[in-house]
Amino acid sequence: MSRASLPADRSLRDATRLIHEGEARSGFGEMSEALYLTSGYAYDTMEAAEARFDGRDPGYIYSRFSNPTVATFEKRMIALEGAEAARATASGMAAVTAAMLCQLKTGDHVVSARALFGSCRYVVEDLLPRFGVTSTLVDGADLDQWRAAATPQTKVFFLESPTNPTLEVYDIEAIATIAHEAGALLVVDNVFATPILQKPLNLGADIVVYSATKHIDGQGRMLGGIVLGSEKFVMDHLHTFMRQTGPSMSPYNAWVLAKGLETLSLRVERMQENAGRIADFLADHPKVRKLTYCGRADHPQAGLVRRQMAGGGTLATFVVDGGKAEAFRFGNALRVIKISNNLGDAKSILTHPATTTHQRLSPEDRAAVGITDATLRLSVGLEHVDDLLEDVETALKAV
Ligand SMILES: *Cc1c(COP(=O)(O)O)cnc(C)c1O
Repeated sequence: MSRASLPADRSLRDATRLIHEGEARSGFGEMSEALYLTSGYAYDTMEAAEARFDGRDPGYIYSRFSNPTVATFEKRMIALEGAEAARATASGMAAVTAAMLCQLKTGDHVVSARALFGSCRYVVEDLLPRFGVTSTLVDGADLDQWRAAATPQTKVFFLESPTNPTLEVYDIEAIATIAHEAGALLVVDNVFATPILQKPLNLGADIVVYSATKHIDGQGRMLGGIVLGSEKFVMDHLHTFMRQTGPSMSPYNAWVLAKGLETLSLRVERMQENAGRIADFLADHPKVRKLTYCGRADHPQAGLVRRQMAGGGTLATFVVDGGKAEAFRFGNALRVIKISNNLGDAKSILTHPATTTHQRLSPEDRAAVGITDATLRLSVGLEHVDDLLEDVETALKAV
């Protein structure tokens, strides 16, 4: 039972593999995946324990680094992403931090797009430099800036696309080529696109990270994350880092998330359909100054979206006419859509980035990534689209 083994049947389609991949039935033949809620494993003999530890027997040793339920989740994600190997983590930030720290050392250099999820930006800008890993932030849409920022010490390029919260889209294929010419690996945070709508590994990226907290759980229950890449990357770097430092996923979370994957494609499709309808409504509304949705023809990089994404996604970002007061009035007038900072949930969620997720940035840094006091991010959920449209329409009257 090698947990790093390749997906079972590559001829099946994503929706099928998300339901059947990585099944590990116990002797009872249960239909739903068993939950192996265990920290350790018993060996029949002293010799068996010895063989497990010296690698002759590839079975489980300790759930800090391997567990059958966590392996089921990893195998489903490996199948979906087209990766060779993966390690699940306790949160999305544990995935990002592990993907960086497992391969970087003092003297190395990271080039990253400036528009990042707040905590990712902390890792690149504040945490890594404390350990002698320098970083350069670039405008991710400007390929020349990526080229110019690379040095002989550059080991990692890092980006998220679409970006949070302004939904800018970066050319993953072109940036992967620049990274490889510089001798670096490209790490893509693929949370906003979801694994259904964008496959960074097929576009040339080397490593993909997710916060499973978002669409993969999709029901706002728990934190989780995962790092996916080549067998070589996982065995040379990630496996040992996870094993020895322990940012691992709990088997219980892995069970819920693996079950979440069974409905992921269905949920993302419906959320995307709802998001497209709401984006169209907002785009035409006189109290909306600017609407950005990756699925619309007026998205600044619509051609690139068509090339590298299979749809416009589940998020729309807009600027209401006015400032913070008007943005707050809109949010406070909502009835169905909840005010929160999560995303990818069955429940639609409104976020005011300037005062929440991006509060840590200075006003100048916020301006540099396109966040104003009137910017609102909407994560569209699974409610009936007419209820969402009515909610938005009513709230806009309060602006
Ligand atoms: C939420 C998020 C993270 C962090 O994930 P957690 O599970 O909250 O730790 C990282 N990147 C992006 C783009 C996210 O949206």
